[in-house]
Amino acid sequence: MKAVLLRGFGQPLTLEELAVPQPLADEVLVKVHACGVCHSDLHLAEGDWDLLKDMTKLPLVLGHEVVGVVDSVGENVTSLRAGDRVGVPWLHWTCGKCEYCREGREVLCSKQTITGVTVDGGYAEFLKAKAEYCAKIPANLESAATAPLLCAGLTAYRALKQSGLAAGQRLTVYGIGGLGHLAIQIGKAKGAVVSAVDIEEAKLELAKECGADWTGREKPERAHVAIVTAANVKAYETALKGLKKGGTLMVVGMPAEPFPVSAVRMVSGEYRIMGSAVGTRQDLRELLELAAEGQVRCRHEVRPLAEAGAALEELKRNRVSGRLVLQAG
Ligand code: NAD
Ligand code: ZN
Ligand code: ZN
Repeated sequence: MKAVLLRGFGQPLTLEELAVPQPLADEVLVKVHACGVCHSDLHLAEGDWDLLKDMTKLPLVLGHEVVGVVDSVGENVTSLRAGDRVGVPWLHWTCGKCEYCREGREVLCSKQTITGVTVDGGYAEFLKAKAEYCAKIPANLESAATAPLLCAGLTAYRALKQSGLAAGQRLTVYGIGGLGHLAIQIGKAKGAVVSAVDIEEAKLELAKECGADWTGREKPERAHVAIVTAANVKAYETALKGLKKGGTLMVVGMPAEPFPVSAVRMVSGEYRIMGSAVGTRQDLRELLELAAEGQVRCRHEVRPLAEAGAALEELKRNRVSGRLVLQAG
């Protein structure tokens, strides 16, 4: 099969011929229809994150926003069969036994394995996945448009769910890329008044199309909830200043450097700062339902698998409107 490989941090991706993976007893082999190109793939390829660098498999097939069709199933798999259309997310496997897994917070499992990080992902014609971690894709959703929901959509969905954002409240989304343009739509679906901030004019146009009530480069009206999906420390500084008292900052975008927080300001405004990591299988089911109802739609452009490297380069230059999605053949 054709697959795009990362052979070392900071090295160009290479299109290579690999053996089709063999599913284990609890796994399925998935023929990839589409795989989204997430900004996290760029961070991973460049070795930006110390935390994940040590656990990254090398050489690695990147890609954790996958939709495809089950080609064959391992001997213990009963939940899926050949021909089912599934999504394969970032979470490849969790232990199911630790306190976090038992509490339904599997994203915190310290034994977790990760698609396109610790095991090969979807920049390929096939990948294998744990049957229990695949999501069935509603029939009315097209594969290429749905692939980015597996991470970008899921992450935005969980973050806004955790933020406690209520109907009628103000939400500001900082960074209108893959995650951000979906966060606007999810915010609108929750009944919020949504402002969108980005440094690129083209992204603000996309924000308007997604239903944003206000767009600009800075200073929207103060918000009950701010979500930062830009991989940029400055965006965090701006977002903290743009909160109403008692407001919540959702930490989603992951610049490698820390952002400054004033204890005095935090206390005087009783602000909350909360991280949110992709999403659980339950979050994913809820999001796919929302998408099937037509409330969330990913703006995307399809590129051939061989152009994965160029796609990452475009993302780095903030030139991507919505999401780029890779398709083989
Ligand atoms: P993207 O490149 O599609 O979007 C980023 C957007 O931020 C772009 O539109 C860019 O123009 C904008 N931007 C850059 N600097 C800015 C600034 N100073 N102010 C406002 N906007 C600015 O990226 P993406 O795929 O949406 O991912 C965004 C970030 O989220 C990445 O750091 C990624 O690793 C991270 N991420 C986190 C999780 C999680 O679980 N928390 C999951 C997926 C991705
Ligand atoms: Zn991602
Ligand atoms: Zn666990």
